Amino acid sequence: MPVFDKILVANRGEIALRVIRAAREMGIKSVAVHSTADTDAMHVRMADESVCIGPPTSTDSYLSVPALVAACEITGAQAIHPGYGFLSENAKFVQVLEDHEIAFIGPTAEHIRVMGDKITAKDTMKRLGVPCVPGSDGGVPDLETAREVAEKIGYPVIIKATAGGGGKGMKVAKNAEDMENAFLTARAEGKSNFGNDEVYIEKYLTTPRHIEIQVFGDGKGGAVHLGERDCSLQRRHQKVFEEAPGPSIDANTRARIGKICADAVAGINYIGAGTIEFLFENGEFYFIEMNTRLQVEHPVTEAIFGVDLVREQIRVAEGLPMSFTQDDLEVQGHAIEIRINAEKLPNFAPCPGRISQYHAPGGLGVRMDSALYDGYSIPPYYDSLIGKLIVHGRDRGEALSRLDRALSELIVDGIDTTVPLFHALLQEADIHSGEYNIHWLERWLDENMD
Ligand code: ADP
Repeated sequence: MPVFDKILVANRGEIALRVIRAAREMGIKSVAVHSTADTDAMHVRMADESVCIGPPTSTDSYLSVPALVAACEITGAQAIHPGYGFLSENAKFVQVLEDHEIAFIGPTAEHIRVMGDKITAKDTMKRLGVPCVPGSDGGVPDLETAREVAEKIGYPVIIKATAGGGGKGMKVAKNAEDMENAFLTARAEGKSNFGNDEVYIEKYLTTPRHIEIQVFGDGKGGAVHLGERDCSLQRRHQKVFEEAPGPSIDANTRARIGKICADAVAGINYIGAGTIEFLFENGEFYFIEMNTRLQVEHPVTEAIFGVDLVREQIRVAEGLPMSFTQDDLEVQGHAIEIRINAEKLPNFAPCPGRISQYHAPGGLGVRMDSALYDGYSIPPYYDSLIGKLIVHGRDRGEALSRLDRALSELIVDGIDTTVPLFHALLQEADIHSGEYNIHWLERWLDENMD
C-alpha cells in the first residue's frame, strides 16, 4: 500500500486539529472539510487545503458521504480520518470508501458492523473470552420475555437498544412495575434515534466504575493494550472527567484485563485504535461495548504512555507496523482530562455564541486541545464540546494540583461554559481520594446544582 501524502479529515473542532497536527508532524498534507457555518473555523485555517462540503446541518455536510468522496477526488487525498462522532463508526461509509479506493484510517467495515450492534458485539466478546454483564442471550422480542429475563437475573435491570450510543436508548427498570415503561421507552428511543428497535437486557450494576481499555491492532493478528481509563464521572451516561491510570486498578489487574482485551482484538485481526468498555464492580470486569474509533479521552492514555495514537492510526492504515510493542509500554505518572462544553449551568443548556476573549493555560504537563480563538463564534449546529484540558503529573495528587492551576489560567469569555463545575469538583474530598462510581456525579449534581 502506498504511504499517504495527503489525508482528508472528515470532522471539525478540536479533533480535526488533533489529526491535522499528527499529519503535519508526519510530513503528510491535510485537507479540512467544512460546512458553510464553519468557514471561519480553526480547522479550516490550520489545514493545508479546505473544501466546503455543504450547509450547516450535519446530515448535509459532515455526514454527506458523496460530498466527502468528491472532496477527496478534487484534492487528491488518499485517505480519510473520521475523528470521533459523525461517520467514525459507520460501516457503510467505510464500504463506500473502499469502493472508491480511498483508505479509511480506522478499522474495517466488518469490525465496525460487528461492534456497532451491541448484541453481536457482546456475543463476539463472550466468544473471545471477555467477561460480560449477565443478561439476556441476545435480543428480547417482547415485554413478556423481558419480564421473564428480568425475574431470572433479578432487578434492577437495564434495557438497552442494540443500536444505541451516546447514552441514548437505555432505560433502567428498578422493579417489575417499571418494566413496561422502561422496555417500551428503550425500544422507542432505539427506533427514533437509530432506526432499530431491537433491545436486550442486562443486570443493572449499582456501584460500578466505568473502566475502559485502550487497545491497538496491526490488522495482522498483532495487538497491544495501553492500560485503562477511568471514566466514571458521567452526566446522563456522558463522560465529563477521565483519568489514567484508574485509581482503583493496580498493575496486576491492568496486566490481566489488558491481556484479555489485546488477545481478543488480535483474535479478530483488528486494525487501529479501539476501546473496550467495562463496568468494574467488586474486583470484576463486565464488558458493555467496544468503540471502534479514537475516543474523546484518548489524550490521557497518550500522556501516560508517551505515544501519539493518531500517528499510530495513520501508520497502520498505511500498512506499516505499529511503532511500539507491549514491552515498550510503561505507565508514567497520572493524567486527567476534563471536557469543557459551551453550556450554561446548572441545567447544561447549550450556550453557543461569540468568544470575546480566549486564553489557553500552559506550562509543564498541560495540554489544551481546543479549536477556540479570540472572536470565534461557536455555531449552534454541533456538539457543545469546545475544549479538553489534559494535565499530566508524576502522580494523581500532582495531576489534580496541576488541573487546579491550569483551570485558574484558562479564560473563555463571552459565553457560559462548564468550567465552574470543575472548580467545584476540585473542592470535593471524593475527587481527591478517587472514591467515586458512575452514579457519584449525578448525585452530586442533584445536591449541588439548583
Ligand atoms: P453508550 O453506547 O450509549 O455510551 P454504554 O453501553 O457504553 O452506552 O453505557 C454508557 C454508560 O451507561 C456506562 O458507562 C454506565 O454508566 C451506564 N451503564 C451501561 N450499562 C450498565 C449496566 N449494566 N449497569 C449499570 N450502568 C450501566
